[in-house]
Amino acid sequence: MTTSSAYHGGENFDLRDILLKGRTLRLEERTAFFQEFLGSMRERGENSCMRCINSPADREVEVVDPATWRRRAMLMFGSNNYLGLATHPYVQKKAQEAIEEFGIGLGGPPLLNGYTTLHRSLEERLAALKGTEDAMVFSSGYGANVGLVSGLTSRSDIIVYDAYSHASFCDGVKLSGAQSFLFSHNDTGNLRLILNQAANRPHNDLFVGVEGVYSMDGDLAPLDRILPLCREYGAHLIVDDAHGTGVMGANGRGTGEHFGLEGTIDITMGTFSKAFAVSGGFVAAKKPIIDYLRYFARSYMFSASLPPVVIATVLAGLDVMEREPERAKRLHENIEYAAAALRRLGFHTPSESAIIPLRVPPGMDIRKAAKGFHERGIFVNSIEYPAVPISQQRFRISIMATHTREDIDRLVNAVQEVWVETGSEIEEYANETKQSHAA
Ligand code: PMP
Repeated sequence: MTTSSAYHGGENFDLRDILLKGRTLRLEERTAFFQEFLGSMRERGENSCMRCINSPADREVEVVDPATWRRRAMLMFGSNNYLGLATHPYVQKKAQEAIEEFGIGLGGPPLLNGYTTLHRSLEERLAALKGTEDAMVFSSGYGANVGLVSGLTSRSDIIVYDAYSHASFCDGVKLSGAQSFLFSHNDTGNLRLILNQAANRPHNDLFVGVEGVYSMDGDLAPLDRILPLCREYGAHLIVDDAHGTGVMGANGRGTGEHFGLEGTIDITMGTFSKAFAVSGGFVAAKKPIIDYLRYFARSYMFSASLPPVVIATVLAGLDVMEREPERAKRLHENIEYAAAALRRLGFHTPSESAIIPLRVPPGMDIRKAAKGFHERGIFVNSIEYPAVPISQQRFRISIMATHTREDIDRLVNAVQEVWVETGSEIEEYANETKQSHAA
């Protein structure tokens, strides 16, 4: 069994684990040490974090170039506004109406004064979307995971979760004090082994945590194999469907629907920051679990409610998902178009979700490559050492329904040029990726 807080994969970086030197220093020296680290990246024009955007997060954005401070247009392949709802006229109209009707904010948490009829109708719509009895809304996806895991489990429980789980799930595990074990990413053989070992330890309840769509690799948890395993061992299955909701399944209901398992997953968590293009999170489950979490998830109980305008935005987003299924269709056509073009270049590119990872081959200077994308006006997320081990470095591409074929062609051309410019072999890299996926 693996129990460690070090980086295993997925979206769970901790620079403190890597910048070991900084750990031993006192605060002033530690922050000065980190300033030096950031300053040297900036000097070389290699810091692609925190780029300032001066427009909606649509397919094309206006970015303040950190090198020149000039504003310039870039093609956005780094936003999870998958369905293009950030600029949808109906969604914007509903948001404006909510401001007029409910004002700006509520000034308090849901249990005291932050609960409106809009909040309740969103909970009902989300429960219907996931096929559960009830749902509750958190002020962020991060808070939803932390509150859900730490609120529901206790020291006498065991949590078994995928090694690529998001930082918010991992932080919930830490706070819960439960016994916890990682299983190898998407490896159901290893999950069975660990469930077997866990079942022999004294415990009250057993929980299994996975992501519907993994945020760093875009691959899916094999829920069709994981759910039966959970049933066999009497474990409660928690699925973080942040990147699956609105994207996966014939009606965008999520990864459960994709696998034909709608309504059978014990607990689903999701965010409003991806397909709904706003912010906030939710948990959908049986009513007694939701009622319990309202009083035991501390990130719910002790945090102010989302403003009604945000709730109205998500409700409008659900309307659009139902009325305009062509958006999700267009998204999947774009994913397939991009993946096919990248495969023609030699990449081993999955096309199941809207996240396409491009693993950086050994020897490629990722900062130079990131600069290459930036100079070509392509906004991608570069995930670099020391945030991840050298072998895990990658570019993460997010596809949106609003991208045009020309946008995707420009992206693919840029990938080819950047790979050539940095002297990197695509073919060799593709084979390696295939092997590591199979391992
Ligand atoms: N879970 C996963 C899988 C995520 O990718 C994210 C966002 N990166 C979160 C949870 C947290 O969601 P939010 O950003 O909406 O707080």
